[in-house]
Amino acid sequence: MPILNRAAEMQDEVAGWRRQLHQQPELNFDVFKTADFVTARLREFGVDEVVTGLGRTGVVGVIKGRHGEGRTIGLRADMDALPIHEVTGKPYQSQTPGVMHACGHDGHTAMLLGAAKYLAETRNFAGSVAVIFQPAEEGGGGGNEMVKDGMMERFGIERVFGMHNMPSLPVGQFALRPGPIMAATAEFTIGIKGRGGHAAMPHTTIDPIMIGSQLVAALQTIVSRSADPVEALVVTVTKFHAGDAYNVIPDHAEIAGTVRTLKKEVAALAERRMREISAGLAAAHGTEITVAYDANYPVTVNDAEQAVFAGDVAAVVAGEPNVHRAMPPVMGGEDFSYMLEARPGAFIFIGNGDSASLHHPAYDFNDEAIAHGMSYWIKLTETALAA
Ligand code: MN
Repeated sequence: MPILNRAAEMQDEVAGWRRQLHQQPELNFDVFKTADFVTARLREFGVDEVVTGLGRTGVVGVIKGRHGEGRTIGLRADMDALPIHEVTGKPYQSQTPGVMHACGHDGHTAMLLGAAKYLAETRNFAGSVAVIFQPAEEGGGGGNEMVKDGMMERFGIERVFGMHNMPSLPVGQFALRPGPIMAATAEFTIGIKGRGGHAAMPHTTIDPIMIGSQLVAALQTIVSRSADPVEALVVTVTKFHAGDAYNVIPDHAEIAGTVRTLKKEVAALAERRMREISAGLAAAHGTEITVAYDANYPVTVNDAEQAVFAGDVAAVVAGEPNVHRAMPPVMGGEDFSYMLEARPGAFIFIGNGDSASLHHPAYDFNDEAIAHGMSYWIKLTETALAA
């Protein structure tokens, strides 16, 4: 079976929703208009239950099959955009300067709405499907907030599935893997105490820029000399702030960045080495270095059995040669990880074709992918909840 005829027929309608959402991007938990749009569509479709305000601004719709009682699965989309100024020049580009859907969450939301419309019309399954629309995927942990609000228990969700677009993967293709598929993330901020003074009298100062430069270089050894080379680990410094003048050595420097890992032990090693290196450099220069280390999203782990199931569904939609079942993990983070910690399930990537990369100001979700993504959600539901 290729894509469903009905999904292909709905392509224009769903693309219209997608473009409307694209024009009104919202950040973090403040996805008020988006959540209202989702809620209005779900009510129009006649789904059995719509609950708003889960995880602050999340929305869940419940659709019951017409073949009686049964199990419940959850399908999840994300609604939030990014603080990036759009440069696509598309007729439907963002109406809000400095904010854009640069990760395709507009497409994810529209595809899941399209699947919800189809499933509410046909209801060709037993049990229930919960369509989950979460806020604050891009750093706020909206998925975690929904889980903490008791979403899994409230709707009796036993398995949960997520989908994200992937630029450079051709449209009509899917990719996933069993086990870790996306990284755990952590953010660090390092403060270097110096002693400021005249630039021409460095011997009377403690230069935090020089110490910070050594620290940035030394942090590279966490990956190159502390971690096992076959383990995945990223340590990236993304901020280095110090100084205001040509002729003044400042009294403080701040360095910050992110750490990405696929295993708890590697994450622990990275934090330990960062603290040891900082303490060692502080001792060497007779000063103090403070390390604030905040673990953020956990590893996104696909359940082995559910990854096979999701791959099988994708193969029915796309054909086996178009499903990459052993893709390498991606070192980005994903807060669907919290839902997968709560219930078994699988996260899958869908091809976005030859587009700009995610989080790029020229990125746009590819509407050609809509019928494929909708067909995946529909087939997944009808197979998982077969009457
Ligand atoms: Mn994303």
